[in-house]
Amino acid sequence: MKETSSTPVGAANSPVRRIGILGGGQLGRMMGLAGIPLGFRFMFLDPGASACAGVAGELLQADFSDSEAAREMARTVDVATFDFENVPDSTAQAFEELCPLFPASNALGACQDRMVEKTLLTELGIAVAGYHAVSSRTDLLEGLERLGYPAVLKTRRLGYDGKGQAVLRDQEDLERAWQRLGEAELILEAFVPFQAECSLIGVRGADGETRFWPLAQNIHDGGILALSRPGVFSAQLQAAAEEKMIRLMDHFDYRGVLTIEFFLQDGELLANEIAPRVHNSGHWSIDGSSCSQFENHVRAVAGMPLGQTDMVRPCLMFNWIGTMPDRDQAMAVPGLCWHDYGKQPRPGRKIGHATLTAQTPQELMERATRLAEIAGGDFPVLVQGLD
Ligand code: AMP
Repeated sequence: MKETSSTPVGAANSPVRRIGILGGGQLGRMMGLAGIPLGFRFMFLDPGASACAGVAGELLQADFSDSEAAREMARTVDVATFDFENVPDSTAQAFEELCPLFPASNALGACQDRMVEKTLLTELGIAVAGYHAVSSRTDLLEGLERLGYPAVLKTRRLGYDGKGQAVLRDQEDLERAWQRLGEAELILEAFVPFQAECSLIGVRGADGETRFWPLAQNIHDGGILALSRPGVFSAQLQAAAEEKMIRLMDHFDYRGVLTIEFFLQDGELLANEIAPRVHNSGHWSIDGSSCSQFENHVRAVAGMPLGQTDMVRPCLMFNWIGTMPDRDQAMAVPGLCWHDYGKQPRPGRKIGHATLTAQTPQELMERATRLAEIAGGDFPVLVQGLD
């Protein structure tokens, strides 16, 4: 039953006391950790008995397709959100019948299918790389005829961190990729020879107010985000990215945090992907912004005023994938903020991150070089490659 008898300290003006989160991964955990000081309590729905968000609230262990479990949670909480966009439509809709869900299922649906996403971006006048729907080998050959080599073949659904995709440079790649991916519904995209990848994270509140964090440059390693560096792009590029996001937010009548990943090519932004949620490239905002993406998402969902999204000091985020460096050795680097998600290490799994902060960009790079040496792997080369 929903509790309505008393209002917790810190949430006096919002009728929301309890927030439900579909998904109990690190994003949910960081939302919980940001929302607890504001007076909210959290409940997470996740199939994993040891979902790492469990430390920040009550964990309801159930499959995402379990509409009955979703209803149980919807009856318990005042408002809900998600940390994972592949929640089945039926679950999101079952939820919405009983409890407000932000962002709403219209945004969720548009981001689950790359073809729907690209079509919507195009309709809204937001530039994307050329694309072609592929349901058969004939479609693929037609697409290659239109877009040419190289091209990128991706599954329309459930792809993340570079999974479910292949770069096609010649006929041999085509055959191999078709063997591997041909069973699924696919999309073929023109290969973008980008100069950089970046992402914009913004938030829209209950009253339609919008705020944006500075664009972050994203460096991937093996298809997975390795480094994010906010605050290195021009005000002009920032304005261009914000203008695109506002179009999307208005279209969805959006509430909460939204992310757009872009390719930067010859000074132009091409949208690659939309995430209707907080994003890995915004983790720096916990330690480097007045109000983090997690706190602002909670504020928006709960109907509170938004916090400031400025970058208060230069920072650089390191993602820990599969393994973490020695914590105490890393934390001897000044300005380092450590975030361990409490997850079992596994190759390719995001198990934590660190945000390095400094007073000046030069000091930041000195510290980054030190941390990269401690972290080892590809980090020294990736950090050296930052201009
Ligand atoms: P995605 O799953 O779409 O975010 O793709 C993962 C990564 O693959 C991106 O961050 C890029 O580094 C690369 N990639 C994806 N699509 C393209 C493309 N059309 N052209 C060039 N690189 C791409």
